[in-house]
Amino acid sequence: MSKNSSNIMALVPKTSNKRETVCIFGTGDFGRALGHKLIQSGYPVVFGSRSPWPSSLIPKDAEVLSHAEAAQKAAIIIVAIQRQHYDFLASLEETLHGKVLVDISNNLKINQYPESNAKYLAQLVPSARVVKAFNTVSAWSLQSGTLDASRQVFVCGDDTEAKQMVMDIVRALGLTPLDQGSLLAAREIENYPLQLFPMWKLPIFLSLGLTAFFFFYCLVRDIIYPRVYENKDYSFFLAISIPNRICPILALVLLALVYLPGVLAAIIQLYRGTKYSRFPDWLDKWMLCRKQLGLVALAFASLHVIYTLVIPIRYYVRWRIEDRTISQALNNKTSPFDNTNGWLSDSYLALGILGFFLFVLLGITSLPSVSNNVNWREFRFVQSKLGYLTLILCTAHTLVYGGKRFLSPSSYRWYLPSAYILSLIIPCIVLVVKFVLILPCLDKQLTRIRQGWERNPQYSEQSNYIINKSAV
Ligand code: NAP
Repeated sequence: MSKNSSNIMALVPKTSNKRETVCIFGTGDFGRALGHKLIQSGYPVVFGSRSPWPSSLIPKDAEVLSHAEAAQKAAIIIVAIQRQHYDFLASLEETLHGKVLVDISNNLKINQYPESNAKYLAQLVPSARVVKAFNTVSAWSLQSGTLDASRQVFVCGDDTEAKQMVMDIVRALGLTPLDQGSLLAAREIENYPLQLFPMWKLPIFLSLGLTAFFFFYCLVRDIIYPRVYENKDYSFFLAISIPNRICPILALVLLALVYLPGVLAAIIQLYRGTKYSRFPDWLDKWMLCRKQLGLVALAFASLHVIYTLVIPIRYYVRWRIEDRTISQALNNKTSPFDNTNGWLSDSYLALGILGFFLFVLLGITSLPSVSNNVNWREFRFVQSKLGYLTLILCTAHTLVYGGKRFLSPSSYRWYLPSAYILSLIIPCIVLVVKFVLILPCLDKQLTRIRQGWERNPQYSEQSNYIINKSAV
């Protein structure tokens, strides 16, 4: 550490466990942020730069030298330079002999180059021991200390000792190293920060497609049909009525789609009589994004609750109630209280409230901070048993909503049934098939298969023995 007074307080006392000097090539954003953090953690830092003189941007406790001079002072050199500028490192081959070179670089596109940046660095300086690390941590989070969401640092490399040295530094910085194996893993680690919500693509595209379908369906039934046959303008339905029809439909359909792949997987396993054969790719992908599908479904259910809360203050609703009351008064008529309607209305609301409560519970337990605190059995109980109960309650809520109008011929417009009837198809299929699957004769067979029993062991010898996750 420097003799001058420091503007950065070392958090680790200088006397205890004297740290080895770390060299950083490049005084850019990441190099400076990492240097700052290393000095705070008690590491002497030396920068290797094209401009080897002090600058107000560089931590005062760090030295700035030429690349060759800086490299001689440390066993570990962190290369905080963009890949396209690596070429000059080949000329330092002799100085870098046996040193640990840490590649932290990222690319702009997935698989941008034929080989990973770390592999490229290893080819440029074959006598150095290259380790990939830190690329998933941003300069901003290092500097601001907001590393809560990204404490994990993927590390990979062919030299175990070099990898261990880098992992020690990662730990000293208060981060968690995750050993990803050899340098072959660098390609995947470099692609990782470039992925855009990979698990969310299917749920989002699916919900966009379903939203578009149900929007046009409701548009035709609820706005165009009355316009054509009754000359009534209900275009204002676009603001609240139609969204409040689409949201519960999507919530229910997407919730059913969370449980459908599990049911399909069970049918496949029963049919094949083994769990040791691969599911089709589409089913694997579908199973992997069930959590995201469920969270999108919960978002639609929450919107439905909010839209429903504003119903009493809508002008159209208040006008209809007032109009009906006045016309009854003018005609001196009253409508008697209908007990059946009272039951239907209250049951529909009660089922909706309970269904939404369990839906929220499912959403909360899927959060990593909560799911990490429950064991596998508890997690399965909530996601499977309570999940199916939620599906039953929400399906019943929709069925009772239809009440006496359910499947009545008068509710058809241009032969199109109400949209909520369509939304019941998938949930009812899932619930009926699930009910069949839990019949003891099938359930027993399925449990045996999931415990490793095979009806025809020959089958698995021909297949590739990849064990799929048992469906929840
Ligand atoms: P940067 O601000 O552009 O800094 C790069 C540094 O490289 C420059 O300051 C310069 O340092 C050096 N350099 C530039 N051209 C050079 C050349 N022709 N020859 C030798 N050295 C040259 O970039 P950065 O944001 O710090 O990123 C550095 C590396 O970290 C990149 O590979 C990036 O992918 C990776 N990374 C960055 C972040 C982040 O949040 N910024 C996060 C993860 C990974 P001197 O002037 O001192 O020579």
